[in-house]
Amino acid sequence: MKKIITVVGARPQFVKAATLSREFQKVGVEERIIHTGQHFDANMSDVFFTEMDIPKPAYQLDINGLTHGAMTGRMLEGIEEILLKEKPDGLMVYGDTNSTLAGALAASKLHIPVIHVEAGLRSFNMAMPEEINRILTDRISNYLFCPTDTAVKNLHAEGYASMPIRIIKNGDVMQDAALYYAAKASQVSDVLTKHQLSSFVLATIHRQENTDNPDYLRSIISGLNSIHAITPVVVPIHPRTRGILAKMDITPKFNMIDPVGYFDMIMLLQNCDIVITDSGGVQKEAFFFGKHCITLREQTEWVELVENGFNTLVGSDSQQLLTAFDFLSSKASDFSIDLYGNGKAAESAAKMIAEF
Ligand code: UDP
Repeated sequence: MKKIITVVGARPQFVKAATLSREFQKVGVEERIIHTGQHFDANMSDVFFTEMDIPKPAYQLDINGLTHGAMTGRMLEGIEEILLKEKPDGLMVYGDTNSTLAGALAASKLHIPVIHVEAGLRSFNMAMPEEINRILTDRISNYLFCPTDTAVKNLHAEGYASMPIRIIKNGDVMQDAALYYAAKASQVSDVLTKHQLSSFVLATIHRQENTDNPDYLRSIISGLNSIHAITPVVVPIHPRTRGILAKMDITPKFNMIDPVGYFDMIMLLQNCDIVITDSGGVQKEAFFFGKHCITLREQTEWVELVENGFNTLVGSDSQQLLTAFDFLSSKASDFSIDLYGNGKAAESAAKMIAEF
């Protein structure tokens, strides 16, 4: 039986890993999970393991609250020690966080095959820590599972076709998660009644490029305040954003609620009028649940959403945000186009990994 070590650490990775963990059990791959501890609060971590039935991590590194270098360095050391002991057949990483890079680097130096899920994405903005993590992780991986044609194209443009690295387009595992958990979410979640929501805008803000730039953050908050005067805006606020707003002495007029679990998030996505976000995953989830999205960034890795008119990029400009809100609020779109696969991305990846 194949033994795979999976490294996760941040919220979006729990959602992605849940889909593969379930499929690994079906195809008889033994998976042991390392949780680096990058996200550790009950509502940023534990709730995902419980709701999504993710196996309990075999290792908890508890590494958080450090600078990028210190965090990545300590993770590298911790993961290497585990890999030396476990001697797995492969190491799985997801997305673009410091946990992704640390896992890939530790394994590649030990000649353990690295499997990167959500490979090939690029924003072409090297100021983003995520972009650095993505590029380096892809380059030292052995198997690259790409969610979109654009991701495959990006890798080819960087010369990957001539490297001994397997590139596989399998679709988006977040689509699998959205489809699989939607029915359960509607049975379990009480988020709409709890916050008395009927017609509302769902927003999330946590990207470093927005939270660490006071002018950008002020402008976004002012735009959301203006929209809140038209339609109630609900923001499950990331702990980092909450902390920065408090330090800047900003009290938004819209509804800030604590971060919600995945089931509540699905209900918010399904029932909102429109989504405003700087999250990567939430841009796609808006599409999965048939909602237009306004993205608080200058670029996106999910270009097909913009090209097809489902998503509009506004950066941090409050005026552009209001104009996009006005336009998209009355726009009708057909969301039935297949951009991210048929919900079987994890199933096909797990079957292939079992055979590698
Ligand atoms: N999410 C959640 N609760 C929240 C905010 C986000 O469950 O309060 C989920 C969201 O639906 C998506 C994932 O977390 O599945 C995305 O994580 P995040 O926005 O933190 O990261 P990114 O996708 O930008 O890397």
